[in-house]
Amino acid sequence: MAVRRLLRGAAEILYPPRCVSCRRLGSHLCHACRRDVQWIGDAICVRCGGPTLERCICRFCQQAPPDPLRGVRGVTFYGGVMAFAIHALKYRGKRQLARPLAGYLIAHLDAHPLRFDALAPVPLHPQRLALRGYNQAALLAQEITRARGVPTREDLIARTRPTPPQIHLSRRERRQNMLAAFAPVQGRTLNGDAVLLIDDVCTTGATLQACAEALCDAGAGDIWALTVARAWPKREPEAWERGLSPAEVFVHWDAPQMERA
Ligand SMILES: [Zn+2]
Ligand SMILES: [Zn+2]
Repeated sequence: MAVRRLLRGAAEILYPPRCVSCRRLGSHLCHACRRDVQWIGDAICVRCGGPTLERCICRFCQQAPPDPLRGVRGVTFYGGVMAFAIHALKYRGKRQLARPLAGYLIAHLDAHPLRFDALAPVPLHPQRLALRGYNQAALLAQEITRARGVPTREDLIARTRPTPPQIHLSRRERRQNMLAAFAPVQGRTLNGDAVLLIDDVCTTGATLQACAEALCDAGAGDIWALTVARAWPKREPEAWERGLSPAEVFVHWDAPQMERA
């Protein structure tokens, strides 16, 4: 352990960390870039955590609440610096970003306390885990464990089939895509424990909801989900959306989905 720490120290002197977004030397996510992160804030739907114009239960959740999830919370909007950072954590092997990104989760829990007995990272399919070498959600959860002492449990639920990318799917298609993608690993072992699901990004919440169903089968009590960022499922803003705040774009994006769903 001491040797590993020494080697890591030496590596940081030889290859000092650079900001993944602006390439500035000194840290993996620099202070200047952190200032550009866009917070979701408290004007949200208290169930799905989606940005709304005021704190409420949104019309999606009035019709179809995200049960068995008590609620979903995302800390920042996905985009800009946050998109760079999460992309680097997931696809460029930058495991070191887990600590600064988990810092957003820990700060959120400080400001909005939740009671939980275990952390459950959203699992990867074994094939993808083998390719990537790590589960970024598990790295985030382990940082919370380090800060809070609540255990990270990777043995509760498993991804039973790979799911295709969801970026162009509607809300309903995502839910169908996710159906039966997760299962409890070893029967009812949780005895009503409260579980906090952890992931890097939430888009419609279909993945988190499917995980929550598997956790329910594993005997979980209250289940909440917390993600670093919240995305809307398209890449580029339309011309008419430029100049709107992320929350406004989100609300506009959600509206036509309602008709399709
Ligand atoms: Zn930077
Ligand atoms: Zn909602």
